Amino acid sequence: MSTSYQVTHGVAVITLDNPPVNGLGQSTRAGIVDGLAQAQADAAVQAVVLIGAGKVFCGGADIREFGSPKAFAAPGLHDVILALEASGKPVVAAIHGVVMGGGLELALGCHYRVAVPGTQVALPEVNLGLVPGAGGTQRLPRVVGVEAALQMITTGASVPAEKLAKAPGQKLFDRIVDGDLLAAAVSFAQDIAAVRPLPTVRDLAVAAPADPEFFKQARADLAKSRRNLEAPQRCVDCVEAAVTQSLDDGIAFERDVFTKLVAGDQSRALRHAFFGERAASKIPDVPDSTPLRKIEKVAVIGAGTMGGGITMCFLNAGVPVTLLEMKQEAIDRGVGIIRKNYEAQVAKGKLAQDKYEARMALLSTTLSYDDIAQADMVIEAVFEDFGVKSQVFAKLDQVMKPGAILASNTSTLDVDKIAEVTQRPSDVVGLHFFSPANVMRLLEVVRSKHTAKDVMATVMAVAKKIKKVAVVSGVCDGFIGNRMFEQYVRQSFALLEEGASVPQVDKAAEAFGFAMGPFRVGDLAGNDIGFAIRKRRRLEQPDVEYSPVGDAICELGRFGQKVGKGWYDYEAGKREPVPSAEVQACIDKVRLEKGITPRAISDEEIVQRLVLAMVNEGAKILEEGIASKASDIDMVYLTGYGFPLYRGGPMLYADMIGLPKVVELMKGFAGQPGGDSAFWTPAPRLARLAAEGKTFN
Ligand code: NAD
Repeated sequence: MSTSYQVTHGVAVITLDNPPVNGLGQSTRAGIVDGLAQAQADAAVQAVVLIGAGKVFCGGADIREFGSPKAFAAPGLHDVILALEASGKPVVAAIHGVVMGGGLELALGCHYRVAVPGTQVALPEVNLGLVPGAGGTQRLPRVVGVEAALQMITTGASVPAEKLAKAPGQKLFDRIVDGDLLAAAVSFAQDIAAVRPLPTVRDLAVAAPADPEFFKQARADLAKSRRNLEAPQRCVDCVEAAVTQSLDDGIAFERDVFTKLVAGDQSRALRHAFFGERAASKIPDVPDSTPLRKIEKVAVIGAGTMGGGITMCFLNAGVPVTLLEMKQEAIDRGVGIIRKNYEAQVAKGKLAQDKYEARMALLSTTLSYDDIAQADMVIEAVFEDFGVKSQVFAKLDQVMKPGAILASNTSTLDVDKIAEVTQRPSDVVGLHFFSPANVMRLLEVVRSKHTAKDVMATVMAVAKKIKKVAVVSGVCDGFIGNRMFEQYVRQSFALLEEGASVPQVDKAAEAFGFAMGPFRVGDLAGNDIGFAIRKRRRLEQPDVEYSPVGDAICELGRFGQKVGKGWYDYEAGKREPVPSAEVQACIDKVRLEKGITPRAISDEEIVQRLVLAMVNEGAKILEEGIASKASDIDMVYLTGYGFPLYRGGPMLYADMIGLPKVVELMKGFAGQPGGDSAFWTPAPRLARLAAEGKTFN
């Protein structure tokens, strides 16, 4: 049983006890119904208090039950709520910590609610591509009003209880209590025990919004702010139903919407992302019980673009950082940029002045390795050059205290080799942050063949502390993200050669949901980066071919936004991409040289080729054990590469198309005029899974 039952001073106390968040699993649901029945039957009980054990009242559904028959086993949450409403004795929800999702719907079935200040109140279902499914969209508008309810339901954002309690006319909370919640709730229950009729949220009227265009406007706003997303629109439908229909009809409507959404692609993708994020923190051969090293002081080497951002991540998490550079000017410049970043946040009201000062007080700088010797972890972010990094690691090996973790932010170098520069290779790990490091959520944790398990466990915990989504990658060129991205870029060039235009490819990718198409990304990041990599690779691997289009534009100095021209032209001071005749001439020239007759390419083909190019590489990455699971690859793309969250990542995209169909599409691409049959040969893992009728995830 995940509840307990006790009677004190004539009040039955039902305690939800299902750690960690008192999720409403089957045994919790059954426990509430049983407790209620017991209370009805006991003449000594005058009222009931429903409370949560531990740190929260209730975080909602028990996610461990998702996808299992238990989730549907009786009693359903809706039945529990009906039982609460039907109780002949008043039920008081005593709320602390968190009241979310099904937990809030449960509380709304009670006759009264008392809460402690600081309690986080939310209906976050929209973030999983759903609407609340147990009356939340019908009951919340009845207690906080349509406007506030719609805001909460469509954003999923949590609001502190005391703020909601202050809103004029609110009926969500009957009392905000300080001190001992149980004692306060029992005393409140005694006070109201005799009040009849029992008040229910169901009996409250909903006031229609003053503006007759309110719902229409909300839909239009959400179409912009939550582009392409279905659930926020359906949330509006449900809240509108709360105004136009009876409670029971509204609940039936909500249930119908929920059932459709839960079976749809967007919710599947968003749930995949939700679970994928949790799964990414688990490393198959590193048990949860692995002891962690203490990380209380961090050093960062190099105060450039990445070093500065990485430093901010730790300062934000309250961890002291010592920043080391070669010259005072470099320190001054780096610290200046950190300050400017924080000051911009202060100016926008996103960061309090005292917090800014507290963060800066955690930062010290030095030109001497002696000052960082006692750091628990050091992250190197110097120039991307093996010689420079080797010198830094040799020095770190000399000075750092035993047990310190030595991390490199390299994006392309071999972390095994960096580790081998030291006498303590098992303490070395790659921490590949993405730019801007203080903003981007992704952190690729590059596990070398030497890295100790406790180092892996420790950096995963550190990643969590600095609010990153850490994904483990083995050592290979480009790790997971950039290795797959290279195939995506390759396809984007091939599409140009075969007949697509730069704006067409970008627009197709953006309509699919990418934050930016491949050419706009190139212009933002700098086309010279890929140009330099291709030059290097041609020396190392002369047999690998690259399309000449990328080089052709770089030879004209079209490096991107920073020089005012790239795949597009840019007017001075503007970021709007303008299609470029010069670029089109480069493409035409390549077509002519290769004897290609351009053909019309559909947007659908563009998207499929861009994504499936990554999928095929992803299959190789899985086969080689560079990633341990397909959802890890998806997390890299969702958190670091602007892949639309509601599509769940490239590997899930392939799963949703169906792998046999993916293989068939690839065959089709290979067979087209100019089709690259080597490129489109399905990777063994993909071919095998397709043949077996299986999926990546
Ligand atoms: P950057 O040129 O902006 O900064 C490098 C800094 O390191 C400079 O301030 C330089 O003075 C300092 N430095 C160089 N040698 C040093 C030494 N021996 N000791 C101390 N300081 C030294 O470069 P960046 O873009 O911040 O890149 C740093 C690292 O991060 C590289 O390995 C790069 O591949 C990697 N990285 C960069 C990005 C990105 O988008 N810029 C993304 C991920 C990873």
